[in-house]
Amino acid sequence: MNPTLAACQTALRTHPAALLVDLDGTISEIVEHPELAVVRAGCREALRALAGRIALVGVLSGRPALEAKGLVGLDMIDYWGLHGMDFLKDGVASRSREAQLFEGAVTAAGHELGSWDFGPGARLEKKGLSVAVHYRGVADPVAWRLRFLSYLEKVAATQGLEVLEGRKVIELRPPGFGKGWCVTTIIQEWRLGAVVYVGDDRTDSEVFQALREWRHTSGARSVSVGVSNPEVAGAWASPPDFAVADVDAVEQLLQDLAVAL
Ligand SMILES: [Mg+2]
Repeated sequence: MNPTLAACQTALRTHPAALLVDLDGTISEIVEHPELAVVRAGCREALRALAGRIALVGVLSGRPALEAKGLVGLDMIDYWGLHGMDFLKDGVASRSREAQLFEGAVTAAGHELGSWDFGPGARLEKKGLSVAVHYRGVADPVAWRLRFLSYLEKVAATQGLEVLEGRKVIELRPPGFGKGWCVTTIIQEWRLGAVVYVGDDRTDSEVFQALREWRHTSGARSVSVGVSNPEVAGAWASPPDFAVADVDAVEQLLQDLAVAL
């Protein structure tokens, strides 16, 4: 058996365990227009099958939780959105009360960014508790990113917010409210004994790190799986325990787990 599958299987046989997955670039391919993303049918069916056998199966996305649920289309799993700042409870979206304290700062930053000249191929998305700028369509992403970051860092400093980079997306968010914080909250709330996490982006490396620290300090089981991609290649601030090649490999891993557990 391949070592990634074996490690995930062992962790998920612990009680209570959680299987948490990122969405874009993990269970769906990255696409030019995020609104056109499609979750792999094989991933969906595997998550559906695993939901009855593991204490917690959830999706942890940078998108709003309700939007993530719309794309995944499963009722029996849990959703956290905005890197954990919002979540669905009984189908209703709720927001982190702590993160909500920054809503005024995020709104002011969004207003200020609205006056910046993004040029063609980039667009601003206001998500309530964060502001994202997608620049997959710009002609020169390297130069565009540097120019925008030098401006954005000033806005972030003025509003007391944090800059977060992902795959051709740059976000402003309340400081410290990332996926690492989210997964730590989930572990405490669910009193988990094991977590398997799969993700592809820089924001996911916050989870890789949080899980590694949790494992070392508590003796709990954790397995992090990074989805390799040319945009992040080697730039995970904290590397995953295992890496898989692409979304196809994630689909295979989830399907294998659905058979094995
Ligand atoms: Mg992703």
